[in-house]
Amino acid sequence: METLTNTVETTAIKTIIAQQRAYFNSGATKSVKFRKAQLIRLKNLVSTHEADFIDALKKDLRKHEFEAYATEIGFVLIELKKAISNIDKWAKPRTVPTPLFHFNGNSYVQPEPYGVTLIISPWNYPFQLLFAPLVGVMAAGNTAVLKPSEFAPATSALIAKIISENFAPEYIACVEGGVPESKALLEEKFDYIFFTGGTNVGRIVYQAAAKNLTPVTLELGGKSPCIVDRDTNIALTAKRIAWGKFVNAGQTCIAPDYILVDKAVKDQLVAKIIEYVKKSYGDDAQRSEHYPRIINNHHLKRVAAYIEDGDVLFGGKVDAADNYIEPTLLENVSEDAKVMTDEIFGPVLPIIAYDNMKEAIDFINKRPKPLALYIFSKDEKKVQKVLSETSAGGVTVNDTLLHIVNPHLPFGGVGDSGIGAYHGQLSFDVFSHMKSVLRRTFLVDDPVRYAPYKLKISWLRRLMDWTL
Ligand code: NAD
Repeated sequence: METLTNTVETTAIKTIIAQQRAYFNSGATKSVKFRKAQLIRLKNLVSTHEADFIDALKKDLRKHEFEAYATEIGFVLIELKKAISNIDKWAKPRTVPTPLFHFNGNSYVQPEPYGVTLIISPWNYPFQLLFAPLVGVMAAGNTAVLKPSEFAPATSALIAKIISENFAPEYIACVEGGVPESKALLEEKFDYIFFTGGTNVGRIVYQAAAKNLTPVTLELGGKSPCIVDRDTNIALTAKRIAWGKFVNAGQTCIAPDYILVDKAVKDQLVAKIIEYVKKSYGDDAQRSEHYPRIINNHHLKRVAAYIEDGDVLFGGKVDAADNYIEPTLLENVSEDAKVMTDEIFGPVLPIIAYDNMKEAIDFINKRPKPLALYIFSKDEKKVQKVLSETSAGGVTVNDTLLHIVNPHLPFGGVGDSGIGAYHGQLSFDVFSHMKSVLRRTFLVDDPVRYAPYKLKISWLRRLMDWTL
C-alpha cells in the first residue's frame, strides 16, 4: 500500500477540511469586499514574487523568463485583473424574465459559492494551472485546498510557502505531495473538485467525486491534431506550428500532437518548420537558453521511445543526463504505434500526409475527441467543413494555442479531453452554484392551481397557451 510521503498526513488533511468548512459556514468568505481584498492580495503576491516564480520555473523546467511570464505569470495576472475589476458585476443577481402565469413576481439567478474546493494541478504549467482556477475559487467566495504537482518541486515549494505565509489555512491551504496525498484528499468530501491532468487520472478523480456527488471540472489531455491544407501560407503556418509545438518543449496540453498535411505541400511545410526551429533555437537547441527541458527522466524515456516509432525527418537527439530531447519531426508512423495512440506531450511531431480533406477528418473522428484542433487554410469552405464535421474542446484557425489566451472563450475539453471549462467570467461561474430564485408577493393570489380542480383544466390550458 502506498504511504503518504509528505509531511501532511490524513489527520492533518481532515483537520484542514474541517477548519475550512467551519470558516466557510461562518460566512467570512462571502462578502464581495472580502473576496476583492483577497484577490488584490493574491495579485500583489504574484507581482512581488515574480522573480521567485521565474526562478522556480527555471529550476523545474528550465523555462526561459519570457515563456515563464507569457504563459504563466502574465496569464494569471490578466485573470486576476479581470476578476478584480468585474467581481461586483459578476456577483450580482442576474435577472431573468418571469412568465405571465407568475404575474406578481420576479426571478433571478443568484451566484453562490459552493464551499470547500479542491484544486489538483499538473507539472507542465505548474504555476498557471493552479493559480488560474484559484482566481475563480476566490472570486466566487469559496475556500480552497491546493495540491500542486510533485514533479515541479521548486514551484510546488514556493507556492506552499507563499500560501502558508499569506493566507490562513482555513481559507486557503496547500497540500504538497504526490499520488498518496492526492488520493488521501480525494477520500474526503469537497463541494467542488477542479482537476487538471491526464485522462486516466481524470477517471480516478471522477470516480472519487461521484462517491460524494461532488461536482467536477476535469481539464484533461489528448492528441490535438493540426490540419494543414494545400491552400495556406506555408511559411507562416510552419512558423506558428513550430512555435506551438516546441514552446515548453512540447509539454503543453494543447500543443499540436501530430500534423495532417495535404501531401502536395508536405515537403515545403517540413522544410519551413525546420527553418523556424533553427531560427528559434539555433543549430543546437541544447545550447539555447530559450529551449526548456523534459520535466524528469521518466517522461524523457517515455517521449524518447516515441522517436523509434517513425523515420526521423529532423532532430532525434536525446541526452538523458540533461533531460533534453531535440525538437523532432517524424514521418512514416503507423496508426497503431504508441506515438499515434498515446498523447505525446513532448517535442516529437509526427507528420502524416493525406490525399483529401475527408481523409484527414475521418482520421480525427476515428480517435477520442481532442482538447484542441488546428486547421490552417485560406479556403473558408474547408475550414467550415472541419469545424462542422469534427469535435474538439477548442479550435484555433490559422494559428496554434491562441484560443486559450482569450478570456472570453471557455477553455476546456470534450469527451475524453475533459468536462467543463473556465477562464475569465466563466472561472467565477464554474465555482458558483447558480441558485434560482423566484420571488412572489402576497398582493394577488390566482385561484387556478388549487383543488378542487373541477373545470379549471380548460383555464389552465388557455393560460399555458399564452405563456412563454
Ligand atoms: P497527472 O494526471 O499524472 O497528474 C496530475 C495531478 O494528479 C498531479 O498533481 C498528481 O499528483 C495527481 N495524481 C497523479 N496520479 C494520481 C492518482 N492515481 N490519484 C490521484 N491523483 C493523482 O498529469 P501530469 O503528468 O501532471 O500532467 C500531464 C497531463 O495533464 C497531460 O495529459 C496533459 O494533457 C494534461 N494537462 C491538461 C491541461 C488542460 O488544461 N486540459 C493542462 C495541462 C496538462
